[in-house]
Amino acid sequence: MLIRDAEVEGRRVDVRIGERVEQIGSLVAGPAEEVLDAAGGALLPGLHDHHIHVLSLAASLDSVHLGELATAAPRHDGWIRVIGWDGKMTLDRARLDELRGDVPVRVQHRSGQLWVFNTAALRALDLDVKGDGRVYRHDGLLRERMPARTPDLDRVGRLLARFGITGATDATVSNGAAEAELLAGLPQRLVVMSVTDGAPCKVVLHEPELPSLSDLEDSVAAARRAGRPVAVHAVTRAELALALAVLESGDRVEHAGVCPPEMAAMLAARDVTVVTQPHFPVERAEQYASEVDPGDRPWLYPCTLFVEKGVPLGAGTDAPFGDPDPWKAIAAAIDRGLSPSRALDLFLTPPEAPGGIPRRVAENMPADLCLLDTGLAGALAAPSSSLVRATWVGGSRLET
Ligand SMILES: [Zn+2]
Repeated sequence: MLIRDAEVEGRRVDVRIGERVEQIGSLVAGPAEEVLDAAGGALLPGLHDHHIHVLSLAASLDSVHLGELATAAPRHDGWIRVIGWDGKMTLDRARLDELRGDVPVRVQHRSGQLWVFNTAALRALDLDVKGDGRVYRHDGLLRERMPARTPDLDRVGRLLARFGITGATDATVSNGAAEAELLAGLPQRLVVMSVTDGAPCKVVLHEPELPSLSDLEDSVAAARRAGRPVAVHAVTRAELALALAVLESGDRVEHAGVCPPEMAAMLAARDVTVVTQPHFPVERAEQYASEVDPGDRPWLYPCTLFVEKGVPLGAGTDAPFGDPDPWKAIAAAIDRGLSPSRALDLFLTPPEAPGGIPRRVAENMPADLCLLDTGLAGALAAPSSSLVRATWVGGSRLET
């Protein structure tokens, strides 16, 4: 097809696409060629979300928020799943029974690390109903006993297409071959950490249960033997300090949620990539103001510091734990001092190198594209996913 009058790299051009971008210039439509008039809208490489949890996102689209619990209809499996609990309201089994006792209810904390079950849920799972119903880190037993859901990946695909996303890296640590097979149903291109050839091996550090240095070294050595870099999940300062003991060039840090200048300098010196969430200090402003150590507050997801120090930097939304809309992350990065084009580039770097050279629309690249309603300067003056007009993966226009 021919995309007529699109803005590419500051020029108004016509772009012919098949599976790849075939021609860019002043072009004449073929006799039966489909034509889309871009009317000067920017044609960009499709965005790549460098850190997402697709199956959890699918589940979240199928869940309700705490405020909706009292009136929510159970799903066909009889359960109600609640997400987005920020911990402000104290929740345990008894309180949850008061809020909703008639059907099994499972509440997931926003961190993704804590669950609360009501009595009906514990009974349905054949678990002890006398405790407080709180479970840290969903264990294998619970995973086995929870009724399975078929994830609606078409729905996730449509959501991501509305944001102009053509690819994503799934950072879920428990991903294996079975999850990768399920995830193949997503219309976007997907890198599955620890599974996709050459993709980094995810290593999670989580206070207060940090591994010993030698255990961490063993995990990293195993990844290196398999020819993979590592992607270390490090949110707190202590987690990052431990990660710094093992990271090498080509590795990445997921989050680096607290990163003072001296640590950013170390990351830069070692050529370690950071995949950041510039929107977290905006989305979670209230929570961070009350829960984060005052000494750490100036260094929360410090996108401008990373750039100043020369840390290779890409971004991911961390959906569903963060808002899945990358344009909100771009807007947050700009508000926090990054230049608009640098903020956009956080999602334009290649999947295999989140801190690498941003992809650009050029002949012969795979036609993974995102067309905006307006020119790029206008779009970056007020970034919003509402400006995304069409999204193509390999030349196929995605449903939204
Ligand atoms: Zn994550």
